[in-house]
Amino acid sequence: MQLQVKTILNAIQHFPGFVFQDIGLRRYRDGRPREIEITLEPHNGICAKCSRCLQPAPGYDQLPQRRWLFVPLWGIVTWFVYAARRVQCPEHGVVIEHVPWSGGKRPVSIAMMCFVARWARRLSWRETARAFQTSWECVYRSVEWFVEWGLAHRKLENVESIGVDEIHWGKSKRADNFLTVIYQIDGHCRRLLWVGKRRTQATLRRGLAALGQEVVHGLRFVCSDMWRPYLNVIAAQAGQALHVLDRFHITTHLNQAVDQVRRAETGRLRAAASAQAARLKDMRWKLLRRGSRVRGKAKAQLRALAGSKLVTARAWILKEIFQPFWNYRSLTWARYFLEDWTWRALRSRIEPMRRVAHMLRAHQKLILNWFRAKGEISSGAVEGLNNKIRVVTRRSYGFRTYDAMETALYHTLGRLPEPESTHKFC
Ligand SMILES: [Zn+2]
Repeated sequence: MQLQVKTILNAIQHFPGFVFQDIGLRRYRDGRPREIEITLEPHNGICAKCSRCLQPAPGYDQLPQRRWLFVPLWGIVTWFVYAARRVQCPEHGVVIEHVPWSGGKRPVSIAMMCFVARWARRLSWRETARAFQTSWECVYRSVEWFVEWGLAHRKLENVESIGVDEIHWGKSKRADNFLTVIYQIDGHCRRLLWVGKRRTQATLRRGLAALGQEVVHGLRFVCSDMWRPYLNVIAAQAGQALHVLDRFHITTHLNQAVDQVRRAETGRLRAAASAQAARLKDMRWKLLRRGSRVRGKAKAQLRALAGSKLVTARAWILKEIFQPFWNYRSLTWARYFLEDWTWRALRSRIEPMRRVAHMLRAHQKLILNWFRAKGEISSGAVEGLNNKIRVVTRRSYGFRTYDAMETALYHTLGRLPEPESTHKFC
């Protein structure tokens, strides 16, 4: 039995009202295959449809032939060729007909855009372009279309908990190099809901507006850092939700304080040519890890350091004795603990630790909300999603613009729905 290419095409991509008319192979001078052109035509007697209302409408005229890139067949660049008709729709006037494989102005078929977009999750955009003999720009536009489709079709139902955070990307510390991200952190669904440039009140207001009033008013938990602009907006717009300052962020602040102390002290000891400087050498990561997770030789070094009179040692001990805070079940005991710890830290005369203590006191209520929300929100969700974002922003995807990166973030972390008709291709 011989199989015609048209039979295969009809099996994978059938467009009611259209037929595959002709399939031609163009070659290079030396005879190597260059591209395949698949010409489509309207099916006899089937009326064109208005591209806006999808209702059949009388024909008006025909436009010149256009080409749409299709999924490469046998590794050969393949095009759909078709001269679209214009129709006279009673409602919309003279408009172009509905072309089911076309996703708008782009010269790429929907099947190819979906195909490329799915591969662009597994490979970098550049690798995807190379593997399928297309351009980086084509990959970008395909992913963009895919993401736009997904965002337009996603459902924001049962969003009970969100995490709001700021992420730095790129090299510079300009305001534009910070992103505000909103995650859904419910047990049943963790995903990126929104990302926007900068970390101001206006940014977060824009993000919450994009989610819609219904979602914002339905929130039960909001998790964030102690960043003032976010605190303000969350209090003003999602007042009904329990606002939680989460473990991940507070640990980060403690770690930053310990690190500041270590750096300053290392500088002082070196300047004084003190033998003690050696104790702090290569200790950065050991000091920043949770003490209970440090093992072996590193643990012995930490123990020796803790026994010393160094300021870094005292700061580290303060950080470590804060850890049991998270294990409390009783709100009252947690409050006592917090008051006791901040009192110690304030008396420590270590400026970075005192700053953390002041911050924790100022936000005590929101921190204690953690215990009210216990068991309802996951402590690792925001941290986990942040790490995934970093993988995307750092991996050499070669994003040339902020918009391209934003598209990539939704693509990899948004859990967006996908157009179904083209699943057959990957
Ligand atoms: Zn119409």
